Order: sequence, then structure tokens, then C-alpha cells
Amino acid sequence: MSETGPIVARTVAAMREHVALWKAEGNLVAVVPTMGALHDGHLALVKAAQRDCRRVIVTIFVNPTQFAAEEDLDAYPRGEAADLAKLQALGADLAFLPGVDQMYPDGFATNVRVEGLTEVLCGLERPVHFGGVATVVSKLFNQSKADRAYFGEKDYQQFLVVRRMVRDLDIPIEVVPVPTVRESDGLAMSSRNVYLSKEQRAVAPALYKVLSGMATRMAQGETASAAITWGRAALDSAGFDRIEYLEVRDAETLAPIDGATRNARVFVATHMGETRLIDNLAV
Ligand code: AMP
Repeated sequence: MSETGPIVARTVAAMREHVALWKAEGNLVAVVPTMGALHDGHLALVKAAQRDCRRVIVTIFVNPTQFAAEEDLDAYPRGEAADLAKLQALGADLAFLPGVDQMYPDGFATNVRVEGLTEVLCGLERPVHFGGVATVVSKLFNQSKADRAYFGEKDYQQFLVVRRMVRDLDIPIEVVPVPTVRESDGLAMSSRNVYLSKEQRAVAPALYKVLSGMATRMAQGETASAAITWGRAALDSAGFDRIEYLEVRDAETLAPIDGATRNARVFVATHMGETRLIDNLAV
């Protein structure tokens, strides 16, 4: 554990001073964008970044532009001191904690839209979400000038959107995916899991069980649509309030898949009470 904890930068200028020094010393710099309430899933990204890069920046910013008006922006869990303690334990180099004014000063007018990948799955019911993500992530990339960026497969569609944006806009950064970290019962770790009641928490691991069951069935030759029919029935009887989507799509393009299952990935979003849970798995 480091004695002092990460450098805390609250302005772009403060972060860039450190990055300039690190780059002058010839060090690779990584950035790990997060919304805080850090858990072991986030920490796996930091560890992966530390394996590849000498210096690691973790950004913590609950980005208002990726939440729709009715969503949980105000309720989203926040805990700066606990987050910084976790980053200190790992030896992360710098925490970037910008205020909303730093990220969206008066007159801010730009929105980055990635077409195609953002209109399916999570984008269908959250039409403003990925525009907010792409905009804030492109800012974080430009602000940090990092060489590599680490994203969780937990939010697989987000990873694809960010990778597409980086390619399309020639942003000089490499986007690296990191496998999903799960609780011992299979539930994907998420900052939003704290919203779950005891009863809901008991239902939630069914998501991973259903995805695993579908992946196994498809690996054994079942078609995607047969696997989805089985999966829907299993989710219905598990006790979720609503299935937002349960789909099998191509892992690169997100095009729907039915026949061949090569490069297929299973994606799910469900609701329990106010809480929305997502997960995905390679076939
Ligand atoms: P968030 O703070 O939820 O916006 O997530 C920040 C980053 O952590 C994103 O790249 C997420 O995909 C990643 N992440 C969140 N949960 C997990 C998890 N359980 N396993 C791996 N990565 C995760």
C-alpha cells in the first residue's frame, strides 16, 4: 500500500501537469474511467492497467449527460473517501475527480454520437445514454492524453461503442477490455447492486445462470432463438419484474444472430423494482 494515496486532481490542468512529467520520463500512461462507488470489478481494471502501464489514472465522475431525466443520477452511490482508500491500497497514481463545471462549462454544446452500435440493446430504452458516454469518454481521453484505456466487459456494448469512437475519430489511445468480475454466486459486480433488497439480491444471480445455460445450449448446437425461448422462461420463473431484453448478437457488430453461433454473445437487461441489472456472456 502506498503511504500517501493517489494524487488527487480536480482540474484538467492539474492532471496534465503530472501526465506531462510521466510522459517525459518515457512512461506509458493508462486511464480507467469510472463513476466511483468502486468495487472489485473496477479494481480489476486498475490492476490490468498496472500490469501494462507504469502510471495509472482513475477518473471518478458521475456523468449527468448519460442519465435520462427519470433515471437514478441523484441516487447514484457516491463515496469519495472510500474510493480514494481503495485506490491507495492498490497504488493507483492519480485520481481525477472533476466537478460538473470542469467537464461541462457554460455553453457546452457538443455531443458525440456513434451510430448503429448505440441503437440496439441498452440504447433502445436509453436513447441518450451512449451519447453521454461517448462524449464524456472522448473528453477524458483528450484530457488525460493516456496511451491505453481499460473498460469492463460487464458493459460490453459500451466497450464496443468506445472502441468504434476511438477508431472513427483517430483518438490515439488503445482500448483494452477486461473480463467481468462476479460475486461468488455469479452476480456481476455493479455499483447498483446496493439498491437490491435481500429478496431481490437472492433472485439476481439467476441472470448469470440463465446466460450460462443459454451459452451451453448454443455451444451444443441449439439455435439462438431456441436458447432465447428457454432463457425467457427461466428468467420469468426466477422472479424478475420485467425483462428489458434477452438477445444473442454478434460480439463485434451487435448484429442479431440466429443460425451459426460463432462469435456470438448473449446479452440481458432486467428490472426488479427500481433497479436495472445487465449482464452478458460469450457463447
Ligand atoms: P461504472 O463505474 O459502472 O461506470 O464502471 C466503470 C468501468 O468499470 C466500466 O468500464 C465498467 O464496465 C467497469 N466495470 C463495472 N463493473 C464491472 C465488473 N463487475 N467487472 C469488470 N468491470 C466492471
